Amino acid sequence: MDLPDYAIEAKGLVKTYAASRGNGAKTALEHIDLAVPRGSIFGLLGPNGAGKSTFINILAGLTQKTAGTVKIWGRDIDQRPRDARAAIGVVPQELAADVFFTPRESLEVQAGLYGVPPRERQTDALLAALGLSDKADAYVRSLSGGMKRRLMVAKAMVHRPPVLILDEPTAGVDVELRRQLWAYVKGLNALGVTIVLTTHYLEEAQELCDTIAIVNRGKVVACEPTAKLLKRLDTRAVIITPRTALSAVPDLGGFEGRLRPDGRLAVTFKTGQAGVEDVLAIVRQAGVGIKDLSTEEPDLEDVFMSLTYADPTAADPTKD
Ligand code: ADP
Repeated sequence: MDLPDYAIEAKGLVKTYAASRGNGAKTALEHIDLAVPRGSIFGLLGPNGAGKSTFINILAGLTQKTAGTVKIWGRDIDQRPRDARAAIGVVPQELAADVFFTPRESLEVQAGLYGVPPRERQTDALLAALGLSDKADAYVRSLSGGMKRRLMVAKAMVHRPPVLILDEPTAGVDVELRRQLWAYVKGLNALGVTIVLTTHYLEEAQELCDTIAIVNRGKVVACEPTAKLLKRLDTRAVIITPRTALSAVPDLGGFEGRLRPDGRLAVTFKTGQAGVEDVLAIVRQAGVGIKDLSTEEPDLEDVFMSLTYADPTAADPTKD
């Protein structure tokens, strides 16, 4: 069989939303190149507004791209839209369970919508793979939140797509359910399904994904195997409450600083290269009085800052 090297390949992808109701035109994706290796669990990580959903919606055929090319399972979405669409299953963000069906009926109906003939359906296997065999004939309204999410995943798989897309699979889900869902996703991947998921939890991407692309403001700022990326992210942040409010980030020599919305100054440093002492020294040197301070894992915004810092074309983070 001739299998593609990449489950998804986007080149020069641009999406500009037209101006509407007083809002100007908005470029959500600025010339994105992304290649998702076949067989991987690939994480698209980024803060709100980064462009993750826009990317997924283009793959799902829900949003028209402005420019660029996209191939799903080697099939160009412009030239072979149906074939491309048939290669992915998409699990949307919102829970939209049909309360009148049992999980088994729900999967059968979905398979019907996709034109899967009865003898080719794999309803029982899917129910088993997502841990729903016991609940196959229960009413959906009697399922827990975690079970409903798993049913959504099963529904996305009825036509046996080789690629499964999950948009923020665990947004608003508690830790235990999150771990449970990760286990099922890993199980599907072990069966050969390529997984693409969006998340704004660094922890989720870290636990689940073998490759992570970080997107920020419509650009890919990093795309690497997880282990390699984490090494680069081996940073801590010193969070300083200044004695008097700062209007801008002072010159901090080689350190990267970001003024958080609450007025505190977050200064990130690589743990192998510097320590808290060094940061404090440079902050004092910059004339900033320190009222209070703490150290913490940098949050995602801090990380994005440190990743985009070296890029002189990066957008000014104080402007939106
Ligand atoms: P994410 O999923 O990473 O939070 P989105 O893809 O939803 O990001 O949004 C990227 C940017 O595009 C945001 O600035 C958002 O406001 C804008 N955007 C998203 N959808 C629309 C739309 N339908 N019309 C106009 N702007 C949009």
